[in-house]
This record gives sequence, C-alpha cells and structure tokens, in this order.
Amino acid sequence: KTKAVVVLGDQLDLNNPALLANPPKLADVLMVESPVESTVVWVHKVRIALFLSAMRHFAQELRNAGYTVHYRSLGDTGQHSLATEVANLCKQHGYTSIDMAEPGEWRLEQDFLTLAKSENIKLRMLEDSHYLCSRAEFAKWASGYKQMRMEYFYREMRKRTGVLMEGAEPAGGKWNFDADNRSAFPKAGPGDITPPAFFEPDEITQTVFAEVEANFPGHPGTLKNFAWPVTRQQALKALDAFIENRFVNFGTYQDAMWTNTPFGWHSLVSSAINLHLLHPLEVIEKAEAAYRAGKVDVASAEGFIRQILGWREFMRGVYWLDMPKMREDNHLQAKLDLPKWFWTGNTHMNCLKDSIGQTLDYGYAHHIQRLMVIGNFALLAGLVPQQVEDWFLAVYVDAVEWVELPNVAGMALFANGGRFTSKPYIASGAYIKRMSNYCAGCKYNPAEKTGDKACPFTTLYWGFLDQHEKMLSANPRTGLMAKNIARLDEAQRQALRQKVADTFKNLEQL
Ligand code: FAD
Ligand code: SF4
Repeated sequence: KTKAVVVLGDQLDLNNPALLANPPKLADVLMVESPVESTVVWVHKVRIALFLSAMRHFAQELRNAGYTVHYRSLGDTGQHSLATEVANLCKQHGYTSIDMAEPGEWRLEQDFLTLAKSENIKLRMLEDSHYLCSRAEFAKWASGYKQMRMEYFYREMRKRTGVLMEGAEPAGGKWNFDADNRSAFPKAGPGDITPPAFFEPDEITQTVFAEVEANFPGHPGTLKNFAWPVTRQQALKALDAFIENRFVNFGTYQDAMWTNTPFGWHSLVSSAINLHLLHPLEVIEKAEAAYRAGKVDVASAEGFIRQILGWREFMRGVYWLDMPKMREDNHLQAKLDLPKWFWTGNTHMNCLKDSIGQTLDYGYAHHIQRLMVIGNFALLAGLVPQQVEDWFLAVYVDAVEWVELPNVAGMALFANGGRFTSKPYIASGAYIKRMSNYCAGCKYNPAEKTGDKACPFTTLYWGFLDQHEKMLSANPRTGLMAKNIARLDEAQRQALRQKVADTFKNLEQL
C-alpha cells in the first residue's frame, strides 16, 4: 500500500473520517507516541499515562478491525517530533500519501503541513466529525457579530440541532438556567456523594505506568489514583454511571466546592470526549433523554448541555479563529512569574492548596476551581499568561490546547481583552467563602483586604479594582465594582496599595 492514515492521540474513534474513508484494504495506520508531546510543557504523569494507555488500547481495536498498524511507542522513537516520526514511517514503508482528520491543535496542523511540503507527501486533512460546528461554520457565524458571545452561539446551536427544544421554543421556557445552578453545599457539608465510575488499570495501563515513571520521573503528579476510562467501552460506562447516579445533583451544585471533595457531582467525561472515546452528541443525547424521562430537572439538563453544545464548541471555534495570536496575548501586561507552589500545592491559602492538591493527585479540578480559584488568583496576581497557560496545559487529564487555551487566556485571564467575555472574571475571598468551606480552615480572613490576616484574594481583588478603575467604570457590567473602589478615601487607598505591593513581593510565601 502507498497510503497511510495517521491517527493522533486525541482522535481515538473508529468513526474517524480518515478511517471511514480508508478501510484496511486501502491503507495502513500510523500512530506515534512522541516524547516531545509529553515534554512540550511539564506534563502531569496522569495525563501522559492516560494518552498513552488510550492510544495503545485503540491500536489494539484497529488491529482487531483488520488494520495493519505501525505503532511507535515511547521507547522506539528517540526525541523526534510526532510529524518527523510519521515522515520516518512513511519512508520506511513506502507511503506516499497520508489521510488524517484535521488535528485539534494549531501547532500540529502546522507541523503536518510543513512535513507534507518538505517530504513531498500527499496530505489530505478531513473535517473532524467530532464537532457539532465546523471551523468554517463557526467563522461564518462569528463574522456576523461585532463581539462574539457564547450565549448567542449556543442558542443558534440549540435551534440547529433541535436539542432541548419544544418546537421553536427552548425546553422549560428559558434558554439558560444558570441562575438556578449556583448553590453552595449545605453548611453541614456535601453529604453522601455517589462516587463516579472508576476503572482498575489493566495490564496495558500498568505497563504504561512503568514507562512513564522510567521516562518522566521528575514530572508532576502521581499515578497512584489513576482510574480514568481508557477505552470507549469504559467511557460509555462512565457516562452511563454519571447519568444514572450523579446527574440529578449536577446542576444545583455545579459551582460548589468543599475540601477533600475533588469531583463533587461533576461528570468527569471531559477527557473521554477530548480523546474522542465519546462523541459529544451522544453525551448530549443521553443527558436530554434523562430529562425527557423525568430523571433530572431542566436546570441540570440545560446546565450540562450548555457546557458541551455551547462552551465546548464555542471555545473550539474561537481557538481556530484567533490562533496563533491567542497564544501571545497579554492584554493586561501581566509580568509576574508563576509561584513554585503551583507545582506542589504547598501554600497557606487553603482554597489553592486544596484545588492544586487534588489537581496533582488526580489530574482533575472542576470548572469553578479552575476559573474562580486558580485562574482568578493568576489574574489578580498578574501572572504571565503564557506561564499560566503552560501550567493548565500540563496538569489536567482533559488538557488539549484548543480547549485549554481559550479557557485560560480568554476566560480566566482576560488576556485577549474581552474578545469573547463581557468582563474579567474576578472575585474576592468573599465569593470563595460563599461557595466553599475553604476559608474555615485557612490562616487568612476573606473579609480583610489589609492587615496581617488579610486574604490575598481580597487584597488583590481590591488592588485590581484600584489599578483598573478606569477600564471597569467604562464597562456597564463592571460599573458597580468601579463604584465600590471609588468609595475608598485616600488613606484607605494608600494602605491598600502598600498591602498589594507587599503581597506581590511575597507571592512565593503566601
Ligand atoms: P462537567 O462540569 O461535568 O461538564 C460537562 C462537560 O462540559 C465537560 O466534560 C466538558 O466537555 C464540557 N465543558 C464544561 N465547561 C467547559 C468549558 N468552559 N469549555 C469547554 N468545555 C467545557 N476543559 C477541557 O476539556 N480541557 C481543558 O484543558 C480545560 N481547561 C480549562 C481551564 C480553565 C482555566 C477553565 C476555567 C476551564 C477549563 N476547561 C477545560 C473547562 C472545564 O473546566 C472542564 O471541561 C471541566 O471541568 C471538566 O470536568 P467534567 O468533565 O467533570 O465537566
Ligand atoms: Fe482562599 Fe482567602 Fe478563603 Fe484562605 S481566606 S481559603 S486564601 S479565599
């Protein structure tokens, strides 16, 4: 054969368009575990293990389906990039043309386009059927708006797909039930949360663990809690278990946080969807069916479906519109280095200690921990966006750049100046106190912005208002924040500025 299909580590689906176009008699398959992909940032051991294990299981499925698979594993490849290794395989086996689904990541797309030119390989990139809105459709939608807003895109997607619709009207009479989905856990605690489905590492995964420990011993995180789905079969089980046992409380406690409660009522399906073990539409359809069967209320169903049909598709669209610039943006000219405790969780700030701690333990934190604890701190502390982006890309099991980067740069850090958000997502310690029990066990006091016990979030929040007062007062969504800072008299402002300066100086010790 002179043709090969390249399957990337996040394209693990037998319905991959390049595979559908090429049955085993027409083409062989190339898969590569490039060590470069695990070192491009300082990747968490769990994320490396998840990708490699899922790839090895998928290669097995491809062989069972009759394909000849040329698979380069960690040990085989030396330090070559993925595209270089594919070129080597083409030379070795005489392939002159390649089909692949379009890569999720801008850098890899560039690499493959360059490779095709330099090696004179005929390359065909097929539209990835794993998204509900294509890159071209999104660009067309975006061209009709001065400012891109997820909410309008999401309504279009609801109408287009018919998901959660009653004729032309949204189910439940409203497009968005966000206001119903913001409860904290009861004061006494979250109670008995039905645990998510966990999966014992099998022989393939155990072998991967040994190789990860041998090849990346100094990388962050631990493999001891690894229980993520690595096959489509397991991913379907994980999804069904969520819909059956946990979905019912998802909406209500979507934003709630509690110490030693790493998963709350969340679905934990992001990594399976991002690896293409699950199709987003099947996840959405199962969620809608649970609502139609009366198992969950409309607020939970809508809240969950919006994340996938709305935010996930929207982020992907924005990523392809704005790359590579998105990676460079630093609208607020943030310039401080990421404190070292981001890699250890070793900080006195209880909220960050817990959120980073569970990230290192599991490769997981839920949305509000990422946005309103870790991201919020990074924004308020003026950390360099590219360092924060690298951290987020390294430490989560679901981290792939097309979804990580717009969430970090665009949503959490306001690094693109509000290209698709109406305001910076900032909050003081008061928000974290309201949504969690973190503050109860903390040496800081969320109510204080100056003084010895001042909560760094509260200090830096007020400092942010002080520093960006003009920008905030010009925006109707943040006018109230600007009014609050305007109430401080000169002496209070001076004390605040001193405390902010001390806090910036002292980030490593907080
Ligand atoms: P649930 O809370 O159960 O939500 C269901 C699904 O909705 C998720 O599985 C995911 O597929 C989708 N989803 C939810 N929120 C978003 C969002 N904002 N953008 C896109 N999809 C969303 N998600 C990633 O998949 N990869 C990332 O690298 C990533 N980085 C993030 C970084 C920051 C700073 C923030 C604020 C969010 C990030 N997210 C990322 C989005 C979100 O936090 C995760 O998708 C979610 O926490 C995954 O856990 P879950 O599967 O239990 O999600
Ligand atoms: Fe976090 Fe401040 Fe609360 Fe401590 S007091 S847990 S630093 S918000």
